[in-house]
Amino acid sequence: MIEAALAFLSGTLIGSFLNVCIHRWPRDLSVVWPGSHCVTCGHGIAWYDNIPLLSYVVLHGRCRHCLAPVAWRYPVVELLTGLAFAVCAWRWGISPLAAKFMLFAAMNVGMIFADYETRLLPDEFTKGGIWIGLGLAVLIPFEAGAAPVVAEVLRWWSLPAAQTVAAGIAGPLVFFGALGLVFRSRCKECLRQVRWYDNIPLLSRILLHGRCRYCRAAINWSELPFEAMAAMGVALSSMWLFGPPGVGMQPFSGVELPKWALSLLESALGAGIASLALWMTGWLMTRIKKKEMLGFGDVKMVGMMGAFLGLGQAMVAIALGNFMGLVLGGGWMLWRGKDTSSYYLPLGSFLGIAAIGVALL
Ligand SMILES: [Zn+2]
Ligand SMILES: [Zn+2]
Repeated sequence: MIEAALAFLSGTLIGSFLNVCIHRWPRDLSVVWPGSHCVTCGHGIAWYDNIPLLSYVVLHGRCRHCLAPVAWRYPVVELLTGLAFAVCAWRWGISPLAAKFMLFAAMNVGMIFADYETRLLPDEFTKGGIWIGLGLAVLIPFEAGAAPVVAEVLRWWSLPAAQTVAAGIAGPLVFFGALGLVFRSRCKECLRQVRWYDNIPLLSRILLHGRCRYCRAAINWSELPFEAMAAMGVALSSMWLFGPPGVGMQPFSGVELPKWALSLLESALGAGIASLALWMTGWLMTRIKKKEMLGFGDVKMVGMMGAFLGLGQAMVAIALGNFMGLVLGGGWMLWRGKDTSSYYLPLGSFLGIAAIGVALL
């Protein structure tokens, strides 16, 4: 009980800092300098007017100097972060696991309000969160999840029959895939040389949003089959390589992955597959609706959720967030008569709510 209360207090302090991040990161401002000031009159805020929750109540939600109202978001973020911290401490005690989920919840609160206010998801939360999530997966290993499933799939592939088929297909695929790569060594529009890291089958197309790095011209779709073949070829030949005796070369036979490596794999799978799934959904919807349906910020945010939660929980959170966005957000737009062709739903806000729910409850 006392732990939860202490966690609540430190949560409100973190929430106070989050408020600064939510305001400044989307505007590309520093969160350290200058110090807290009123966004209306620019007057500096003294420490005794900057106490989480309390100062808002004492000052009746107004600036001490110009009496301009302080946005309701400030106390709400402090309260929510405090509550999330209290739940973490109550569930996991004062432990590394609790700290991990406190950080996760705080970053999601930040993203919920940043996306709601600015329709922007700062890279500090999304990209930064992916790296932090991967690092924490090593330090505080996951219990179980998708990684054993992948191991199971690899075991199935090591059946001789599957491997014979794989080896038969892999050779030609690699050949044609490599041939396809040669054709894309120069951009057809600006004729610039494509660097090797922009020439990785499928992956580069996704990372470059299907456009040339220099002139932004669309990369020709006719090369997609070649890229798919190359990617599949690499995948299949690696299966062949790691197969059973007599067929595969078995460089890792008898090697048990340590717990941290399985956990890192889980985290990386979560980040990779979750963001790929959302990116493909967005791509499909954009094709159907002829309108940009979701930003790349959402894709990176989902990657961050996957890195922290692992594949299984992240997919539950994504499904829940999309469902809420569709039902609550869509319903609200209909009710208020918003124009669906120009109004953008803050999908990141719904995803953030779902992520906190799945992680803490
Ligand atoms: Zn003021
Ligand atoms: Zn170009």
